[in-house]
Amino acid sequence: MRLILTTYVVAARFVGAAWHEREAEDSIIQALGGKLDSAANIVLPGDGEFGERAKRWQASEEDVQETIRFASDHDMPFLAVSGTHGSTSAAATAKNMIQISLRNLNTAEISKDGSSVTVSGGIKSKKLIDYLWTRGKQIVTGACECVGLAAVALGGGHGFLQGYYGLLSDQIISMRVVFASGEAVTVSETMNVELFWAMRGTGHNFGVVTSMQYRIYNIPLGKEVWSWEAFTLPATSGNVRKCGLVLMNHAVSEAPLIMHNIAFNGPLAEARQYTQAYHDLEGVVAASAEGTYLDVPRWMQIDDAGFVCRIRDFMPGVGVMRFPADVQAYNLTALVAAVERFVEITMAGPEFAGSFMMLEQYASHAVMEADSSKSVFANKRDKLLLAPALAYRSVNEETGERNEALDEKVRRYGEEMRQLLVDGAEGMGGSHSYVNMRTAASL
Ligand SMILES: Cc1cc2nc3c(=O)[nH]c(=O)nc-3n(C[C@H](O)[C@H](O)[C@H](O)COP(=O)(O)OP(=O)(O)OC[C@H]3O[C@@H](n4cnc5c(N)ncnc54)[C@H](O)[C@@H]3O)c2cc1C
Repeated sequence: MRLILTTYVVAARFVGAAWHEREAEDSIIQALGGKLDSAANIVLPGDGEFGERAKRWQASEEDVQETIRFASDHDMPFLAVSGTHGSTSAAATAKNMIQISLRNLNTAEISKDGSSVTVSGGIKSKKLIDYLWTRGKQIVTGACECVGLAAVALGGGHGFLQGYYGLLSDQIISMRVVFASGEAVTVSETMNVELFWAMRGTGHNFGVVTSMQYRIYNIPLGKEVWSWEAFTLPATSGNVRKCGLVLMNHAVSEAPLIMHNIAFNGPLAEARQYTQAYHDLEGVVAASAEGTYLDVPRWMQIDDAGFVCRIRDFMPGVGVMRFPADVQAYNLTALVAAVERFVEITMAGPEFAGSFMMLEQYASHAVMEADSSKSVFANKRDKLLLAPALAYRSVNEETGERNEALDEKVRRYGEEMRQLLVDGAEGMGGSHSYVNMRTAASL
C-alpha cells in the first residue's frame, strides 16, 4: 500500500500552525505510520524535497480508508477534494481538519469490450476526455476541463454530450465508496442499491468515491466536427431579450456585456441555420471557429488554461458567490429585471468587477428520456441553469480574515437577483437549484 501524502500537502494549507498545536508531527508518524505498509513513507511539509516528491506520489483506496480512520480516531473533520472547484462552505471556513486531496487517484482504463471505462475518484474531466478521444470514444463530462469528474457526477453532471446520452450520473455503472468508518463498499444496480439511487444526484456526503465505472460511447462517424460561435453585445434590456451570458469585467469594458456562446456538433455552415438571427443583430461582434470536441472548452475559455479555470490566477484573492435558480423556460420580464439589477450592482463601484450572470442550457433529449425513478436527481425538467455570480475580494491578505459585512452584502444582492428569477418561474412550477452550483462561498 502506498500512502496518500497529498493529504499532508493540503493539511498544511488548511491547518497550518494549528496542526502543530494539536498534534506533534512525531505523533502523526507514530500513529499513522504504524498502520501503513513498511514500504510507505510519510513526508511532512517541513521535510526537504517535499514539493518535488509530492509530484510522484501515487495513491490507493486503502490509503483513503487509512486516512479516514485516522481522522475519525483523532476526532478531526475531513473533506475530500478532487478538482477543487466545488463551492461547499466547509471548504471556505474549515479549520483544524484534514483535506484528502484525491488528485493522485487519476487513472482511467477502458474495459476489454470497449463499453465502459473505470476511472479513479480524483480524475479531472480533461484527462478522461483526452484518454477516450484518442481511442474513438466519448462520455458526458462537465463542460469545464478543470472540474473533477466524481463530484460533477455525484451531483448529476451537465455537459455538452448530455443531449445524446443523458446526465453524467446516468452513465455510472458502479462505484467504490469509502464510508466515514473507513469501510469500503461497491455501490451499483445490484449492490447497495438504495445508495446507488441516492448517490446519483446527491452523492457527495455519503462517502468518498475512490473509483467509478461509466458507460462510454463510440464517437459517431460523421460527428467528429464541432463548431462554435460567440456573439458579444452591450447588456441593454433590449439585448437581454435576445441572448445570453452577462459579463462585467472592467478590464474588458466599462459597462456589462452580453456574451452568447453556442457549441454545435457539426460544421459551421450547418450551425448557421440556427445562428443567423444573432448575426443579424445590430452592433453585434461575432467570432467563430471549427474543430473537434477537444477544441470546444478553449473556444469558450473553460479549458484548463482559460479564464474560468484559472480565475484565481487572473484575479488573485477574488472569490465567487453564485446564486443559482434553475427554471424550465425563460420568463423574459423576470430575466430583464434580474439583469438590470445585476447591471446596477456591478456598475456602482469596482468591487464586483469580474462578476457574471450565467444563462446556461444544454440539449436535453436523452436527459428527459432517462427513467427518473432510477436516481434521485430531481430537476430534469429545469433546462435552464441561471446563476447570478458575484466576484469580489473578501479575504484580507495579511490577516486572512473575511470581510463579513461584504459577504453579507453580497448574499443580499445575490438573493435579490435570484428571487427575481424564482418569482418569474412561479407559473412554471417554480425554480430549484442544481446542487453542484449552489454556493455558500467559494474561493
Ligand atoms: C468553473 C466551473 C465550471 C463548472 N462547470 C460545470 C459543468 O459544466 N457541468 C456541471 O455539471 N457542473 C459544473 N460546475 C459545477 C461543478 O459540478 C461543481 O462545482 C463540482 O462540485 C466541482 O467538483 P470538483 O471536483 O472540481 O470540486 P471539489 O471542490 O474537489 O469537490 C466538490 C465537492 O465534491 C466532493 N468530492 C470531490 N471528489 C469526491 C469524491 N471522489 N468522492 C466524494 N466526494 C467528492 C467534495 O468533498 C466537495 O464537497 C462547474 C463549476 C465551476 C466552478
